[in-house]
Amino acid sequence: MTGLNKILVVDDSQLIHSMYRLVLHRYAGCRILDAMNGLEALDVLSKESDFDLILLDINMPVMNGIQFMEKLKKDNLYRKIPIIVISTEGKEEDTLTALKLGATGYVVKPFKPHMLHELIEKVLARKSLATIGAKSG
Ligand SMILES: [Mg+2]
Repeated sequence: MTGLNKILVVDDSQLIHSMYRLVLHRYAGCRILDAMNGLEALDVLSKESDFDLILLDINMPVMNGIQFMEKLKKDNLYRKIPIIVISTEGKEEDTLTALKLGATGYVVKPFKPHMLHELIEKVLARKSLATIGAKSG
């Protein structure tokens, strides 16, 4: 059990989607759904909302990562889904904005797989703590 059952990857690069599949293969049995921009991601979420994690690019056409987060965090159904922002070097301002909007963490491109794995483990540990807190409280 990894605790990671379903993950939504939002990025406008098909190459990045393929790369994530390679990086995430260690989470056996985890379903990975792809969206190419924020609007597509909202569409995916409207069909199924029980995601354990969202990996989010910032710079995308149609609806970028910041605009997506602004919408997501206003919605009670989705706002608790942990988000890891995949940011680009030199775009620290965007990363800060995403963190202010409630992103759980971020990694800077280009990153090594183990960096993303470590972050995912931390996010999942936090999530299970939050669940325990909610149950006892
Ligand atoms: Mg992009």
